[in-house]
Amino acid sequence: MERLFSTNTINLDQRKIAYFSMEIGLNAKIPTYSGGLGILAGDTLKSCADQHVPTVAITLVSRKGYFHQRINEEGYQIEDDVSWSLDDFLELQDKIISVYIEGREVKVQAWKYNIKGVKGFHVPIIYLDTDVEGNSDEDRRITDKLYGPGQDYRLKQEIVLGIGGIRMIEALGYSNIQVYHMNEGHSSLLTIELLKRTENHDEPDHSKKFDKALVRKKCVFTTHTPVPAGHDQFDMELVRRLLGDYVPCIDEFCHEDKLNMTLIGLKLSHYINGVAKRHGEVSRDMFPGYSIDSITNGVHSTTWAGPSFKDLFDKQIPGWRCDPYSLRYALRISKADIWETHMLEKRRILDYVNEKYNVGMDKDILTIGFARRATSYKRPNLLFHDMNRLWSIANELGPIQIIFGGKAHPNDGEGKNLIKQIVELSRHSNDRLKIVYIENYDIYKAKLMVAGVDVWLNTPLRPREASGTSGMKASVNGILNFSVLDGWWLEGHVEDVTGWSIGPKKKNEESSNEQDADELYRKLREKIVPRYYDDKDNWIRMMRHTIAFNASFFNTNRMIQQYILNAYFN
Ligand SMILES: *Cc1c(COP(=O)(O)O)cnc(C)c1O
Repeated sequence: MERLFSTNTINLDQRKIAYFSMEIGLNAKIPTYSGGLGILAGDTLKSCADQHVPTVAITLVSRKGYFHQRINEEGYQIEDDVSWSLDDFLELQDKIISVYIEGREVKVQAWKYNIKGVKGFHVPIIYLDTDVEGNSDEDRRITDKLYGPGQDYRLKQEIVLGIGGIRMIEALGYSNIQVYHMNEGHSSLLTIELLKRTENHDEPDHSKKFDKALVRKKCVFTTHTPVPAGHDQFDMELVRRLLGDYVPCIDEFCHEDKLNMTLIGLKLSHYINGVAKRHGEVSRDMFPGYSIDSITNGVHSTTWAGPSFKDLFDKQIPGWRCDPYSLRYALRISKADIWETHMLEKRRILDYVNEKYNVGMDKDILTIGFARRATSYKRPNLLFHDMNRLWSIANELGPIQIIFGGKAHPNDGEGKNLIKQIVELSRHSNDRLKIVYIENYDIYKAKLMVAGVDVWLNTPLRPREASGTSGMKASVNGILNFSVLDGWWLEGHVEDVTGWSIGPKKKNEESSNEQDADELYRKLREKIVPRYYDDKDNWIRMMRHTIAFNASFFNTNRMIQQYILNAYFN
């Protein structure tokens, strides 16, 4: 194999991997992400930069972001546009390419951001932008709103991302890309653009005109969605209207008269994977006939370690920033150092909520965190299934503080109701049980929360949590997970060692909200609250195990190495 890991400076034509993602979340200032998928993309690219993996990334510029969440007096989520100054962060490139939508030429320009790795290696991100002079007003808005409203709008965005993305990286001079990685199906049209280029005009047999094998050899597809309804698909009428006869052999990529973006990815990739072991199995059941592997997600350790934990690791595990595997040596850090560091992180999140929401949260009280997209299957209200039981635990065994956060998708009415319910409950807080809902959950607030609470709770309905990554972020800071055995937690959970499980242990065993809530309360009462208040020694020992066992493994450095070996150059 040709040298893959590169020296610090490389030419454009030495970039070998093109990573496509509808959203990329690097930090709270560049609001081109909505949640887990985008932050995973950002963390992946940061690890590519740290490890000199010659990657270029492609995404949309999302000038109005996803949305800014406000919660009104009644507890309803209000969505405001985000405004941000692109040119404070990104550098406009001097190339313009075109795509065709409804027969019209739509011009696309690009902005660049360089991620700088720990040893100075850069990974560029190319942000595609249709706000170009000469485009109609409507077309200029295509790259405004991440996951904006309507199927038309979404398909236009995917045309720009997939087809425009390929044309743009070529125009910019990335001429030696050997691997195209689709982070979910939004960018699948890139395979069609590659396929079109293989057309043999002399071949009379239509089915042999295009060289699918050649495209497959270059493409890698990662699915993140364990339910069929979650996969992107478009009515054929819409596809024909927007794309004309652009897609060759279109019937092969249709399912129930819809162009299915996952199916395109599956058919035109040589390597397909789910994002945790269990999710690989679920995906194989969902798409029989395809060979689907799994690579378990990770997080970028230095992004998610809180500032005090970073200092501690710098002192006691030198080299951990380049080599997060060495977090296994956390076993040697003293319990006193772990606790002191944790208390510094805890103070930061409590200062934040106390200042902003005037809730008077106390650093000596057991604090539970729950934050992620607010949607039914994540069951953010499972903890409140039986308020009497929760109150009695808090009254009899020790006070509890709970910090919530998360946005609901603008069309997800149920998700918005869940937020409202929790906000209403938070108004009945007292000294034994305090609840706060922080507005506009983003990377900044996530960093405070996953470093500073005591327990990280997750209660999804199985098998809907493909991986989940926030629990991994918590692990970098020694925070104990208390979660349903789904996604990554099936791999990271060791009872009473790295945290605690909720609900059935066997993979196909069903359970109801009642049963899961019952176990949640039982473990809070019997294990978690008493251990926190009466057995700090063992609590801190668990924190140390969490860092050593889980942070050393569930990181994007390990993950990208697996992609290189199993997917990119296998
Ligand atoms: C990590 C993260 C998520 C994803 O959380 P999950 O628990 O994996 O669903 C969502 N939003 C933000 C801001 C995050 O940092």
